[in-house]
Amino acid sequence: MRHANTELGHYSAENTANDLGIVICKFCSQIIATLPTNGYKKFYIVCDHEQCVSSNETQGGNENEC
Ligand SMILES: [Zn+2]
Repeated sequence: MRHANTELGHYSAENTANDLGIVICKFCSQIIATLPTNGYKKFYIVCDHEQCVSSNETQGGNENEC
């Protein structure tokens, strides 16, 4: 069954239709979170995995953004 009216603020765990922004680890590509954004966006971060953290340090932390 599908409800035609999906009100904002009434969030269900499975309703990710508006979460077009995804936060992914740039090393293991794991999706860490989704964000409700206007349009499809990707945010690259480093997750908590030790392997990814050490990889980030090895690369010198290439995270300078304007
Ligand atoms: Zn990772």
